[in-house]
Amino acid sequence: MPERTYEVKTVGVDYECDACHAGTMQQTGIMLPSDPPWWRHKCSNCGLVEDLRQKYPTVRWERVLTA
Ligand SMILES: [Zn+2]
Repeated sequence: MPERTYEVKTVGVDYECDACHAGTMQQTGIMLPSDPPWWRHKCSNCGLVEDLRQKYPTVRWERVLTA
């Protein structure tokens, strides 16, 4: 299978609070061991505690679509 390269851009990803929609979920450093693990987060605005499958904020790479 020959390799092909493509251009990517880096994006930061916040997780908006499900309760107040004003704050963002911030990782607390607490991991709940399961497979896959849960990561405990706390809202920066209302303090809602929620366990998520990924740590936020995070960084992703997205493919740059060229016409
Ligand atoms: Zn909130």
